[in-house]
Amino acid sequence: MNFLEERIIKDGIVKTGNVLKVDSFLNHQMDISLIEEIAREFKRRFANKTVTKVLTIEASGIGIAAFVAREFGVPMVFAKKSKSVNIDGDMFVAEVESFTHKNRNQVIVSKKFLHEGERVLIIDDFLANGCALQGLISIAESAGCVVEGCGIVIEKGFQYGGRAIRNLGYQIESLAIVDAMDAENGTITFREQ
Ligand code: 5GP
Repeated sequence: MNFLEERIIKDGIVKTGNVLKVDSFLNHQMDISLIEEIAREFKRRFANKTVTKVLTIEASGIGIAAFVAREFGVPMVFAKKSKSVNIDGDMFVAEVESFTHKNRNQVIVSKKFLHEGERVLIIDDFLANGCALQGLISIAESAGCVVEGCGIVIEKGFQYGGRAIRNLGYQIESLAIVDAMDAENGTITFREQ
């Protein structure tokens, strides 16, 4: 087991509805030493890539992506969720359905902050059905950026997002892949990587 899997076993809580709660160390209270280690691991896994920008989505991705951006020495930009339908032409827009909140949001990035030819590393805390990641890929590509890869902290391998997006040819590096979890007895099974 790697450092993250050990922490998930120790402090993660399996909820009904295929939700893994990691809010004591990852996406509410944040263990900064752990986030630093996560960021170093993404740097190692994408060491052969040229990255000019890190892209994520608010809110939970921001804290993690900030540390990853520092490892690469590049800026980080996060897509904002917006309920407004009146988005002007200065924004790249994608429609994203939230797995946890079961609602749809438009997510937007200002055209000022993503430019043609930029090489983007996408970071997020979770990958489930892949809607958030696909929205971010779509925004990066509408901007004419190259998606160098996607770094995910926890992938739920029993949901289809990872397989679907890998099949499109994107490199996804997930630091922990949960292949099964059981809310009744709290067990979590990781994929061997
Ligand atoms: P997707 O779009 O891949 O279906 O879901 C990804 C997004 O939903 C992530 O940005 C994350 O915030 C949230 N999410 C999905 N599954 C879980 C989960 O099991 N636990 C938590 N805490 N968030 C999740």
